[in-house]
Amino acid sequence: MGLLLHAEGNGASTSQRLVKSFAPATGELLGEIHAATRDEAHAVVERARRAQAAWGVLPIEERCERLLRLRDALVDRVEEIVEVISKECGKPRGEALTQEVTVTVDLLTYYCKNAPRILAPRDIGLHLLKHKASAVHYAPRGVVGIISPWNFPFVIPMGDAVAALVAGNAVVIKPSEVTPLTIAKAKEIWDSTGLPEDLFGVVYGFGEAGQALIESGIQKLVFTGAVDTGKRVAAACGANLVPCVMELGGKAPLIACADCDVERTARAIVFGGFVNAGQVCISVERVYAHETIHDKLLSRVRDLTKELRVGNPEGDGVDVGAIIFPKQIEIAEKHIQDAVSKGAEIVTGGKRRPDGQFFEPTVLANCNHSMTVMKQEIFGPVVPIQKVSSEEEAIRLANDSHLGLNAYVFTKDRAKGKRIAARIDAGNVVINDVLLNYAAAEAPFGGVKQSGYGRIHGEDALREMCETRQVLSSRVPEPSKDPFWFPYSGKSYRWQLRALRALFSRGPLLERLGKLL
Ligand code: NDP
Repeated sequence: MGLLLHAEGNGASTSQRLVKSFAPATGELLGEIHAATRDEAHAVVERARRAQAAWGVLPIEERCERLLRLRDALVDRVEEIVEVISKECGKPRGEALTQEVTVTVDLLTYYCKNAPRILAPRDIGLHLLKHKASAVHYAPRGVVGIISPWNFPFVIPMGDAVAALVAGNAVVIKPSEVTPLTIAKAKEIWDSTGLPEDLFGVVYGFGEAGQALIESGIQKLVFTGAVDTGKRVAAACGANLVPCVMELGGKAPLIACADCDVERTARAIVFGGFVNAGQVCISVERVYAHETIHDKLLSRVRDLTKELRVGNPEGDGVDVGAIIFPKQIEIAEKHIQDAVSKGAEIVTGGKRRPDGQFFEPTVLANCNHSMTVMKQEIFGPVVPIQKVSSEEEAIRLANDSHLGLNAYVFTKDRAKGKRIAARIDAGNVVINDVLLNYAAAEAPFGGVKQSGYGRIHGEDALREMCETRQVLSSRVPEPSKDPFWFPYSGKSYRWQLRALRALFSRGPLLERLGKLL
């Protein structure tokens, strides 16, 4: 690829700091982009703010119509996008296509079709102030900042961006320093659509660029990343009174009940655990298998895992690609060492590959909660399995975590699956499937506990991209003076007292009305 981007008109930097993008599968330098200084980051936000002033007053139908041009361009140039994601992330092209571009395009389609309804002013019936009419209006916030991680460098920032744009905001994205070229491609495509260039700003850089974005006067931030970074970012948002959504780490448990379909469960564990080499916030991070099916499930998971083809995803026929950088490999190794030292068995995998930044898909058996692998986020291709003697035990262990993003339940009894789902502390629980909830454009996605707060996707997220404004008006001709206005008097006070008793005492209506006299 070999790109050197100056990002002119979009935070061009004269500083010598460069964001470098390397292909994790080959080590090849794919491109370099100048990192924005603080002033440059602020200038991108300022230009976005000016562009938003015109965008935000367009009728919503017109905004949606114009944004469909972005969809057309994404569909036309999908293979360029897939190539850059696949190279920069080291993931198979099919994953880049389906999990990143298709989900983004679908989200854009859903919002463009439904936003006029979702954001239409909403009448609210008032139970006390019956002489008044109230309505909630949804007004754009202004500039929405988006700070995003490297594991899904397209769908995460673009999914947030399309919601913000449909709602009438401008966006400024700070992509991960590890995967800047994917957003550079998205920006290039945006600029080709004829939509206002400054409406879609990008600030390339490191953590400081993200900090500069938070301090630039944005009206909202959507942050996706690690828990520790999220705490720092939330504190910075607090200091600047910037409302924020926090999409943080996950430790998704999978409960395999005694009555699960073992074949489907095994395949789901292997897919959910090793997709994107396990570098997914909602990947299967721990399995609780009922003792009656444990051995059968384990041996099937082992066999299926051994069949996975690991390597450079550029060619066809690769299932599991590269690990983003060496530190992620070290984290996986540490978890495995700790688990083995406490009695876990490596069923398959367990080590890095000699031919590059790859790690063998690993299955661990005999795991328990004394091991870090069952408690801390792995974010790599390691699936630890613990045998449990009851579903109660599985639920207790699933909830024994500081994280609560996704959770999975496998059982042939869907009603039981729903009962278990209701007892799991997670933002999203999926029955007999894995990961798919992220692709449900209509449904909210987000975490509880230290997995974060706020939601993306669905109606609530779109409304959250707006300021809610109540407009209160009269249903009847207004008198020249309301009874609660000045001047106060003992008479009006006694009347208010009687009114309170009549309204809020218990008893039949006639009896209560008598209190007015
Ligand atoms: P990080 O938290 O390291 O980085 C996330 C983003 O924050 C990057 O753009 C990073 O920039 C930026 N950043 C770092 N420091 C600061 C700062 N002080 N102020 C503002 N921005 C800052 O996460 P990773 O990129 O390593 O992503 C992996 C994590 O993301 C995992 O924990 C995973 O679970 C989580 N995640 C959560 C998802 C969810 O939906 N809940 C989805 C996907 C991932 P830079 O890269 O330049 O340091």
